Amino acid sequence: EAKRGGRGRYQVFAGDMDDLLLRRRTVESDLRTALTTGDQIKLLYQPIYGADCETVLGAEALIRWDHPVHGALSPSHFVGIAEERGMIGLLGGWVLREACSFAAASDLPWLAVNVSPLQLRDENFASDLFAIMETAGVEPRRIQLEITEGVLLENTPATTAVLKELRGRGVRIALDDFGTGYSSVNYLRRYSIDKLKIDRSFVRQLGSSDESTAIVKALVDLAAALGIQVTAEGVETVQQRDALVAMGCQELQGFLLSPPLSRSQIGTGTAEPEQALAG
Ligand code: C2E
Ligand code: MG
Ligand code: MG
Ligand code: MG
Repeated sequence: EAKRGGRGRYQVFAGDMDDLLLRRRTVESDLRTALTTGDQIKLLYQPIYGADCETVLGAEALIRWDHPVHGALSPSHFVGIAEERGMIGLLGGWVLREACSFAAASDLPWLAVNVSPLQLRDENFASDLFAIMETAGVEPRRIQLEITEGVLLENTPATTAVLKELRGRGVRIALDDFGTGYSSVNYLRRYSIDKLKIDRSFVRQLGSSDESTAIVKALVDLAAALGIQVTAEGVETVQQRDALVAMGCQELQGFLLSPPLSRSQIGTGTAEPEQALAG
């Protein structure tokens, strides 16, 4: 910052690097405070609908941070930093406690919670989660964990054991953003996955790209053949919705059906879009 107006590109670049490092450090300490006080961080809940587009089957918990200076931050602004700075256990633990307490109080059949690959590397993850569910009074069957393909790619004995322990007690496992990573069909056989979530990059092009339409159809059929449930993410248009329903997709999630809602909104069913996010 202070070096701005200096002697050329290098300094401009160095300035930017400083800003970045400063921001990371600020985010880290601010996040620690936010997680301790608990009043800047919250979860929103996006309903997931059945193919009739009326029945709410469950919801996905999505974290938000109302930063006192930077305003409303989406997870892309801080989840990665929390992972890099060794804070994901703290953040993820807060999310699981909050999500389980909401699930216990709500009528929703189930609640999906995103977990970082780093959380699953902790061999105590499953027992910690069981303890959280027990304290909250929520049945393991009502919690679904959304993991990304990277977790399975790592294929570490610890992660495999954790996933097995979780499923053994009835926790469901959904593979998030399916199709964007390494997407080995082998994962679906080798690991016991309950659900595939087709990434919204494919859903977005439904109808406008024949290839995307073919990919989505193939994924829906593959899931059916393997006895795995399937959710389409990012459904924004009637055209996308109709195409997905015609293909036999069982679960739909997206702004067309409902945006992520606050705890009180989802309780009362009043759908008001969340405020625009900074950045
Ligand atoms: P995700 O798990 O794939 O979540 C879906 C994202 O798509 C959410 O973004 C949601 O708000 C957005 N979305 C839903 N419907 C639509 C739609 O129709 N159109 C568009 N354009 N977007 C839609 P969000 O909340 O910004 O979350 C981004 C990512 O951050 C999530 O992707 C997830 O990977 C991660 N994340 C969110 N909450 C948590 C958390 O508690 N823990 C961890 N580790 N990661 C989280
Ligand atoms: Mg997710
Ligand atoms: Mg997703
Ligand atoms: Mg996604």
